[in-house]
Amino acid sequence: MADSTQTYDVIVVGSGASGGWACKRLAEAGLKVALLEAGRPQSDKNFTEHKPLFDLKYRDLAKSMITKTRPIQSGFDICTEYNYEWFANDLDEPYSTPDDKPFHWLGRVRMTGGRTNVWGRVSLRFSDFDFRAASHDGQGENWPITYKEIEPYYDLVEEYVGICGLAEGLSHLPDSKFQPPMPLTCQETLLRNRAKQKLGWTVTPARSANLTKSLKGRAACHYCGPCERGCQSKSYFNSAFTTVADAVRSGNCTLISNAMAYKVLMDMDRNRAQGVLYVDRNTLEQREVSARAVVLCAQAQESVRILLNSATTQHPGGLGNSSGVLGHYLTAHIRSAGGSGEMPAFDTKPTLRGPHRPVGFYVPRFRNLKDGPQSKNFVRGYGFEGDTQIDFNWLATGFGEAYKKSLHETQSQISMTGFGEVLPRWDNFVEIDKNKVDKFGIPVLRIHMSNGPNETAMLKDIADSAGQLLEAGGAKNIHTYADPPRGRWAVHEAGIARMGNDPKKSVLTAFQQTHDVRNLFVMDASGFPSNPCQNPTLTIMALCVRSCDFLMDEMKKGDF
Ligand SMILES: Cc1cc2nc3c(=O)[nH]c(=O)nc-3n(C[C@H](O)[C@H](O)[C@H](O)COP(=O)(O)OP(=O)(O)OC[C@H]3O[C@@H](n4cnc5c(N)ncnc54)[C@H](O)[C@@H]3O)c2cc1C
Ligand code: SF4
Repeated sequence: MADSTQTYDVIVVGSGASGGWACKRLAEAGLKVALLEAGRPQSDKNFTEHKPLFDLKYRDLAKSMITKTRPIQSGFDICTEYNYEWFANDLDEPYSTPDDKPFHWLGRVRMTGGRTNVWGRVSLRFSDFDFRAASHDGQGENWPITYKEIEPYYDLVEEYVGICGLAEGLSHLPDSKFQPPMPLTCQETLLRNRAKQKLGWTVTPARSANLTKSLKGRAACHYCGPCERGCQSKSYFNSAFTTVADAVRSGNCTLISNAMAYKVLMDMDRNRAQGVLYVDRNTLEQREVSARAVVLCAQAQESVRILLNSATTQHPGGLGNSSGVLGHYLTAHIRSAGGSGEMPAFDTKPTLRGPHRPVGFYVPRFRNLKDGPQSKNFVRGYGFEGDTQIDFNWLATGFGEAYKKSLHETQSQISMTGFGEVLPRWDNFVEIDKNKVDKFGIPVLRIHMSNGPNETAMLKDIADSAGQLLEAGGAKNIHTYADPPRGRWAVHEAGIARMGNDPKKSVLTAFQQTHDVRNLFVMDASGFPSNPCQNPTLTIMALCVRSCDFLMDEMKKGDF
């Protein structure tokens, strides 16, 4: 429980990928940190990665029980009877969209650790090619940072998180400080060799925040499979048992759970943030906590919701919004195109509960690269995440011995999904819905998001190239698809409080400090000026640590 009379040095809102790092960096440096987290505390007792289906009350067959309270969150296959209570109750925490622009705001986790409890863990660096994308094709804005500036922070984060992967020497996808990769299957090795030979494309083991070697008291992964249910051996990266635990252990970080931040409180005379007003989820009481600086890390939409709800007479459009761009340029990743095909089984045998590699393979972007051919139909690019399924022939027919034999014929299927960059557009935005509040009385977001012509053209190309890749790999019975997103985007939202050097066109500086209020920072993906096709979280974490170092320097100067 927070001591309401205590003034902290920094309030961090949100304990996920960014908030965990902010707390660790600041608290270990000796600052007194209050961590406001809307969700419940996480604990090993909640981890069920080894619990068999038959131990569940409904054998995970009662979807209707989950959809009663989580009609949106349960649209994700990782939200199951095992873990659904980790996710936000959609009825308590609604949002709205125009009828013709459905947006499935998935992965809203309400536990310490946020989305890192259930994330897919693919961890990829951005490059200068991404940071300067606007210079290449004229779309959007460049980033106000260079690769050289963020590189030491990638190194620092990776050495702590533990990323397995294979160095490939690609300039547009810089290599990380890798732990050994998880091996490719025989089918994927064939795909890798043939893709390189025939197309010049790279198929590489997934770069993933799963340990292949023990690290700082966390054991190497033992291939049990369902990381989204937690991990007793702490072998994947989850802020709950890594960064947040370290911060709390330092003695300088107070975790205040069930604390739903409503707004940033301002000292109007000094134009400085002075605290945060939050609602206790259990008692619905409003409480205040004070500090010298405020850092929002609540996930892009949630942080921007807080800024918009913090409007004052001096900041009528929301805090940090003198440019008018706050809430605009929402991006995510399209992920509704890809393909699959049958590969030779070689001698691989299916098992019912054998070891299960928790990661697959990755195909780095190969379209519209700096020195390569440019597509006539779209700008930017996409990568593929893929996997091999080795299974019994469940469609076997017949009876007796013949049936048994047919059932044991190994089925080997490779599948891949494209993750494509979405251009930042003004008309993809969030605003406060004036007619709706959540269970805590906090005004909710109205989200306007749709794909534009660039995304539509890219989706088609993703399907075509998935087919090309599978064919090059020797797959049979190839199936490709390119569906419009229908409201379903990758949970990689970014960009609605973008960084930039020009305060007239951006909300945050290159150190994620609001241009308008010097002691107010937003350190999640809200600040991304664009959303390259690589998964965002590694960059979220690296940027956050860099910005915390800046914040501490400013504090030492006595600036706030
Ligand atoms: C299923 C899934 C798979 C994913 N796979 C990948 C992947 O493979 N690679 C990758 O890079 N990324 C992946 N992501 C995305 C990744 O999880 C996010 O990019 C990352 O966690 C974002 O970090 P964050 O700190 O911004 O937010 P989060 O990690 O979501 O943390 C935000 C925290 O803030 C809390 N919060 C929200 N509002 C408030 C409030 N008002 N007051 C107090 N607290 C609040 C939340 O409860 C939450 O704990 C995946 C996400 C999901 C859901
Ligand atoms: S597969 Fe590995 S990282 Fe995932 S839950 Fe099992 S041991 Fe942990």
